[in-house]
Amino acid sequence: MTIFEFEPPLPVAVPVAECKRQYPVRRVFCVGRNYEAHAREMGGTAREPPFFFTKFPGAIVPSGTRLDYPPGTRDFQYEGELVLALGAGGFEIPVERAHTVLFGYAAGLDMTRRDLQFAARDKGRPWDTGKNFAQSAPMGEIMPAARIGRLLKAPLELAVNGVTRQRADIAEMIWSADEIIAHLSSLYRLEAGDLIFTGTPAGVGPVVAGDCIGLRIGELPPLSVTIAA
Ligand code: MN
Repeated sequence: MTIFEFEPPLPVAVPVAECKRQYPVRRVFCVGRNYEAHAREMGGTAREPPFFFTKFPGAIVPSGTRLDYPPGTRDFQYEGELVLALGAGGFEIPVERAHTVLFGYAAGLDMTRRDLQFAARDKGRPWDTGKNFAQSAPMGEIMPAARIGRLLKAPLELAVNGVTRQRADIAEMIWSADEIIAHLSSLYRLEAGDLIFTGTPAGVGPVVAGDCIGLRIGELPPLSVTIAA
């Protein structure tokens, strides 16, 4: 029997829609700039190879959470995104086989300390403090692909206090879900439990204390969080 120096944390898990099971999270990958209009609003040009950053699994919080305004920033921003949840792994997965490792889909928020992200970007430093912090990855319940099929097209709509801020279709992603999985699996051996935030469309912006963020992606379970006063 292993004796730990202190109690190891329980695995982070996300509820699966319409059943009592939980999806255990292994790693959280995120794609940068995957919609043309958002790439432009961030100062980039279209169709560059996808690039990735990561968050700690512990950054995940469920729908309904009151997010504390995070320390170290004056520009806390939302990014509404489709999240892929892998149910199997693989290395160098061909695009044609990528859908076979997918377990399901969820609505997710890549919450960002934009001022820290931009300061890091401008100095050529890592993005971690801008992207990876407590409560920075709110997620709705995961809808199994076995129940809804492959999600190739679905409207994404994010509203702040009921006012629409982001409206797009996931079909507009520069790199499709299958292409993202194939590409990422050439850099890492992917595993069941890996989540991939697939990037946000145009319309990102700040939130302040008291704001309510709502995100809907097609028929996926909706996600809403509030910013604590
Ligand atoms: Mn993002």
